[in-house]
Amino acid sequence: MTAYRNTQLYIDGTWTDGTGGRTIDVLNPATAQVIGHVAHAAPPDLRRALDAAARGFVTWGRMSPLERSGILRRAAALLRERSGDIAVLMTMEQGKPVGEARTELLAAADVVDWMAEEGRRTYGRIVPARAPGIMQEVIRSPVGPVAAFCPWNFPVNQVARKVGAALAAGCSIIVKAAEETPASPAEFIRTLADAGVPAGVLGLVYGTPAEISQTLIADPIIRKVTFTGSTPVGKHLAALAGAHMKRATMELGGHAPVIISADADMDRAVSLLAGAKFRNAGQVCIAPTRFLVERPAYDTFVTRFAAAASALRVGDGLVEGTQMGPLANVRRVDMMETLVADAVGQGARIAAGGKRVGNTGYFFEPTVLADVTTGMRIMNDEPFGPVALMTPYDTLDAAVAEANRLNYGLASYAFTGSGRTAAILRDQVRAGMLTINHIGLGLPEIPFGGIGDSGYGSEGGTEALEAYLDTRLVTVRAY
Ligand code: NAD
Repeated sequence: MTAYRNTQLYIDGTWTDGTGGRTIDVLNPATAQVIGHVAHAAPPDLRRALDAAARGFVTWGRMSPLERSGILRRAAALLRERSGDIAVLMTMEQGKPVGEARTELLAAADVVDWMAEEGRRTYGRIVPARAPGIMQEVIRSPVGPVAAFCPWNFPVNQVARKVGAALAAGCSIIVKAAEETPASPAEFIRTLADAGVPAGVLGLVYGTPAEISQTLIADPIIRKVTFTGSTPVGKHLAALAGAHMKRATMELGGHAPVIISADADMDRAVSLLAGAKFRNAGQVCIAPTRFLVERPAYDTFVTRFAAAASALRVGDGLVEGTQMGPLANVRRVDMMETLVADAVGQGARIAAGGKRVGNTGYFFEPTVLADVTTGMRIMNDEPFGPVALMTPYDTLDAAVAEANRLNYGLASYAFTGSGRTAAILRDQVRAGMLTINHIGLGLPEIPFGGIGDSGYGSEGGTEALEAYLDTRLVTVRAY
């Protein structure tokens, strides 16, 4: 059995403690016990990381896209080989069932592979000139050293999306991963180092998030900022990036609507949506959240979805057969209790779950709240936990209006038997992503991102690389 490991900083190709030796405790959310610690970066550590990233950008830029791609593909292979061991670390620090942790690692390896290949295709173009003898060349160049801020819900995949795209595009990158889940992303960084990413190209720091973001974003060495996390923090970091004229990608919160027509395939809708809702205990920015069900199908859908929720086995993610682990931290449990109590106080009906499980660790029941209304706090604030909200609708217009009511616009879902309904939703639902009759989001080759308060930029598809490339023009008159 893998033992939990303490985590150091990775600066200029060396694993190191923070200057001054300060550390932060790491808890296992299944037991609420301290299982280890992570090094805390002090200002001199951040200075060294920045200077190393500046040198690393030069080193990495001297290598061809083909060489860089080869290194990244080796890293992806190493990640697959080590995924069993790293998955256990992830479950210990984050809580998700170990099978889900392994799936995340394999998905991260796929992201790195895909970005590695796509990095070989950062083509420019020749624009026809207005006069003979003139050449107009459009060149795509890596933007420069990147500062990346990553959350705790997918401790490795969120890092892989940023690191994969940045390195494939030819940038160096400093990652601040989540202090609550440090060991699994550190092992991911180790696969890249072991695969041959040179010193300085890749850095990993932990510490006080506000201090690190303030320092890195303001420093002239950093040319690009990327963040995944909550909308309030995203707005703060986007403002900082703007103040220093740095390019930014913001992957923020969501409150995904799910429109279910009465003519939908109910078996398929219930089983796919229950899987998507309770994966990672609902701590997923694209988790289906506001279930809008056409009235004739409402009671049946609520009953069947509640039965699927109640049947889930909740427990320690390391125990075989566990289908949903604890929430990742006590903040989420407190928030679930607050939001459920507010909704019930305003007339919501608990169709499944509704409360904390036991008093050890951060477990919360898979929960279904029926008959919710728009004045309830949970219908407006992202729950980021295992709670599904159900409300009936009478007309498609009303369903679309509710889907579009919030400023969030990340994922959206629909299940329908009608091509006409699907076409209307395609035209009218305002969200960065819409998936109809299947759960089709998050693959490396398709865009991933939001609009409105859900942020801007994309972390999938060719758009993911665009975020790390500048467009330059060179025009020459030869005769
Ligand atoms: P939070 O807002 O305190 O932190 C969110 C993330 O931002 C954390 O990883 C944190 O370390 C980081 N962070 C906070 N302040 C920062 C700063 N000044 N500079 C740089 N990084 C900073 O919330 P939390 O309690 O950790 O998470 C809960 C909320 O975050 C959820 O409600 C959800 O909306 C959001 N969240 C979203 C995602 C996502 O995938 N979009 C992932 C995790 C959390």
